[in-house]
Amino acid sequence: MVIGGGATGLGVALDAAARGYKTLLVEQSDFAKGTSSRSTKLVHGGVRYLAQGDLKLVREASLERGLLYRNAPHLVKNQTFIIPFYNYWAMVKYTMGLKVYDWISGNLTLGDSLFISRKKTLEMMAGIKVEGLLGGVLYHDGQFDDSRLAINLAQSILEHGGCAINYIKVIGLLKDDDEKINGAVVQDEETGIQYNIKSKAVVNATGVFVDDIIKMDELTSKKTICVSQGVHLVLDKKFFPSDHALMIPQTSDGRVLFAVPWHNKVVVGTTDTLIEKASLEPKALEREILFILETASLYLTEKPQRSNILSVFAGLRPLAVPKEGEKKTKEISRSHKIIISASNLFTILGGKWTTYRRMGADVMSRIEKEFNWVHTETPTASMHIYAYANGVNWSDPLYFYGSDSARIRQRMNGTENEWLSEPLKIYKLQVKWAVKYEMARTVEDVLSRRTRALLLDARESIRIATQVAQIMAKQLNKDEQWVKQQVEAYNRLANNYILN
Ligand SMILES: Cc1cc2nc3c(=O)[nH]c(=O)nc-3n(C[C@H](O)[C@H](O)[C@H](O)COP(=O)(O)OP(=O)(O)OC[C@H]3O[C@@H](n4cnc5c(N)ncnc54)[C@H](O)[C@@H]3O)c2cc1C
Repeated sequence: MVIGGGATGLGVALDAAARGYKTLLVEQSDFAKGTSSRSTKLVHGGVRYLAQGDLKLVREASLERGLLYRNAPHLVKNQTFIIPFYNYWAMVKYTMGLKVYDWISGNLTLGDSLFISRKKTLEMMAGIKVEGLLGGVLYHDGQFDDSRLAINLAQSILEHGGCAINYIKVIGLLKDDDEKINGAVVQDEETGIQYNIKSKAVVNATGVFVDDIIKMDELTSKKTICVSQGVHLVLDKKFFPSDHALMIPQTSDGRVLFAVPWHNKVVVGTTDTLIEKASLEPKALEREILFILETASLYLTEKPQRSNILSVFAGLRPLAVPKEGEKKTKEISRSHKIIISASNLFTILGGKWTTYRRMGADVMSRIEKEFNWVHTETPTASMHIYAYANGVNWSDPLYFYGSDSARIRQRMNGTENEWLSEPLKIYKLQVKWAVKYEMARTVEDVLSRRTRALLLDARESIRIATQVAQIMAKQLNKDEQWVKQQVEAYNRLANNYILN
């Protein structure tokens, strides 16, 4: 039994189901409601970790990047990035460093890095600051749609005979006479009904909430994670009209800044702010917004203003509590860690979206070892993710449905091919599809994680919320009162993604 339906939990549950174990994953809210829908959308080895000398993590992440690119080609795009140089030392350092980055991924590389002249850099990156530009380096990484991958992973779990359910919260752990964990008490968040579920192994994959579950096991346990917030701003493509992504390796606070083309918009971020208390709906701080706007303005010819922001979203990094001497959150290793309690609660901490598969495989191998079960090799390295499709046309608005897009198109007859939002290229049929085949239960599920309307343009998403609720109500047999409640709740939430 896996607690948590983010990247980590989905990776563990898919590995377990694929190895042939009876598997259940429960998620208290929607799949990827937490950090896993709020990433920078990169499937990457991590140029920053290379600069920090963490070669082991870069190697692991680079291999995983290559595998995910092979196994989910409908969601992971080979994206070119350009680092523009305004000083000679950085130019030498990053051009050479990126050769190591190419080499480290072996035959799973996405393409070689290349030094490009000043002229070529300006040709390839319209909108970049001209003054003082010396040249650039182009390299390859992956770019993906995080919550869509989460939904496809949940569907893959079902395909492999497992079960993944949203809106089921773990509220307690069950123990046998020897004080060993043998299941959990869960609550259906829609009906309030509670169930006792027995399981031979229980995995805590709850991201920034792992300590809440650890406390259910052992009240006096020490804190295992600290929480670091990262914010992104979404802008119109006109601020950065390039097909290549921009990477600034060292901002004034020593972090990396990305401007990445995504669904015909640009995602710019991120920050690294230590936060006291984790929440499922973290809010961007004013200083984080200002920092991103100011830093982006240093490199873009058309300077974005607050009023140009289409959506602002914040996510929380679950980082292992730093060791002595590691003070800053950006210095804490992003590699994952497995902790096993005396009563056999398996907790997985840290990691990255990119390495979710490796994390899942490591947890399952560890469980087999601890319980002396026969070791089964994980089949996930070469396993296609649900909706696998090759040769995707990235400008097709339905591209992220992969092999399902043909089934969706077949149904697009009569009124079924009406736009729900023409600017965001969302059809009404996608709402029905999300309810019927993708376990969407609320307006937010549809607008935030089945489609990405909330993150792409929060105001436009509010405009279509009532229509979404009405379509869903028909599918789910809900009344007008439900529609009203859903729209009110959605508007309250979406207002946090808008800057006034
Ligand atoms: C700003 C930012 C940018 C990032 N960018 C990238 C990137 O570009 N590439 C990359 O590889 N990685 C990136 N990461 C890292 C990556 O997003 C995270 O490592 C990953 O999403 C964490 O997934 P998770 O499953 O551990 O946590 P989460 O996604 O938070 O999932 C945990 C889930 O557990 C559920 N849960 C909690 N308590 C309970 C309970 N009692 N019962 C049931 N369910 C429960 C929660 O509702 C939640 O959905 C980024 C992270 C941040 C914050």
